[in-house]
Amino acid sequence: DMARLRQLDDYCFTVPRAAGEVRSEVLLYGSAPLLRTMDDMVLTQITNVAKLPGLVGPAMTMPDAHWGYGFPIGGVAAFDPDLGGIVSAGGVGFDISCGIRCLRSNLELKDAAAQFPQLADALFQAIPAGVGEEGALKLSSHELDQVMLGGAEWAVHQGYGSESDLALIEEHGKMRGAVPGNVSELAKKRQRGEMGTLGSGNHYLEVQVVEKIFDTQAARAFGLHEGQLLVSIHCGSRGLGHQIGTDYLVSLAKAASRLGIVLPDRELACAPINSPEGQEYLGAMNAAINVALANRQILAHLTRAVFARVIPGSHLATLYDVSHNTCKLEKHRVDGKDRMLYVHRKGATRAFGPNHPALPAEYQAVGQPVIIGGSMGTGSYVLAGTAEGERRAWSSASHGAGRAMSRNAALKKWRGRELIEQLKGQGILIRTKSMRGAAEEAPGAYKDVDLVAEATEKAGLARRVAFLRPKVCIKG
Ligand code: 5GP
Ligand code: MN
Ligand code: MN
Repeated sequence: DMARLRQLDDYCFTVPRAAGEVRSEVLLYGSAPLLRTMDDMVLTQITNVAKLPGLVGPAMTMPDAHWGYGFPIGGVAAFDPDLGGIVSAGGVGFDISCGIRCLRSNLELKDAAAQFPQLADALFQAIPAGVGEEGALKLSSHELDQVMLGGAEWAVHQGYGSESDLALIEEHGKMRGAVPGNVSELAKKRQRGEMGTLGSGNHYLEVQVVEKIFDTQAARAFGLHEGQLLVSIHCGSRGLGHQIGTDYLVSLAKAASRLGIVLPDRELACAPINSPEGQEYLGAMNAAINVALANRQILAHLTRAVFARVIPGSHLATLYDVSHNTCKLEKHRVDGKDRMLYVHRKGATRAFGPNHPALPAEYQAVGQPVIIGGSMGTGSYVLAGTAEGERRAWSSASHGAGRAMSRNAALKKWRGRELIEQLKGQGILIRTKSMRGAAEEAPGAYKDVDLVAEATEKAGLARRVAFLRPKVCIKG
């Protein structure tokens, strides 16, 4: 609804305060065409976030934003614990640490294309996908505690992948501050058979080709060139993360009411970071982050095994592993001073600029890889974090194209089987157990990823490095 928006510059909008309305500023990043079609709930939701206690700077949305639970997906908000700042389960998202592991191969499209049908079948067989699908790994309660503490590092020590992967994962593959004791028995029970599984719906494992390079210097640093094959794995913390979200909504809502925090929306249940409930949630959330990191590490390993079998001599190195549903304590510059803030990024990717100490040595000069999924029929992008993004959005950027319509609306419009047939005609092989899921995930149900990536760059959040075209997609 453009009538509620005021344009600040070509790629930044705000919602002016109503008379007497007490809240912080909101900033919506994106182009006018993207904002024109953005659902109205995004404006309402981000305006509500701007009323939460201890918010530092504006409440923000990325160019791919759409309606979510409490916070919009594509929402970014930073809080100061010393000013009563809060943590919200709805501000992290239910699929805690959902994210993308991107692997780059030593294969060229022209050499491997003939093996795609075989590769698609082998990946579909080896990667457990779909609702409630379990993997080969069954963990004891004690082992699951080790996963929650160790993340991808645990997985590497179990023989999944190599030590060299760890430097290329956020937090070096292991989130500190995890407290397995804060995770309910039900959450743990749900996870025992779900390690190394993709999940359903929007989660995917995709073989992609680098079709276009935008930034040769960054592409060189990331090890990317035109014609090269990549694999992107999108999934999160499975049943455990969802159960933590469900459990803590209740306890955070109770804390808010006990402490007299006025919630502009019940879905924004939250507690001060410096409260027992806030601390408890963060301990559980960090445990779920490790589960997601371990999960993607195991899936990367399974993928490598399939590639080695189907295309002997192939090699898959980790480009990077980004999470897009988190709340992390980070140092940021506010009015010329360094401050430690808890940054919620829900459906938003961390995007540190060049020279950030958290980046691996090989990416220091160009910034953090940012991975934007698009759809199974259009394409995806690799971008790089910028110095400007730190000033404009606490180093955050888009995480996808973002939905343009609901799953239900998509179901009415498309048939899964026809869609898959059509994509096959375009040289894209889809494997899925759910035709319904495929219809819900129709490329047309998402915003135009080219517009989102362009707006992300023009808004100064991250700059485009490469465009990736899908070739094989295993859908959850
Ligand atoms: P989310 O994390 O919000 O569930 O999804 C992230 C993004 O992934 C979506 O906004 C969408 O643009 C993208 N996406 C969904 N399905 C696919 C797919 O099959 N392939 C690719 N490349 N991207 C997808
Ligand atoms: Mn997810
Ligand atoms: Mn996701």
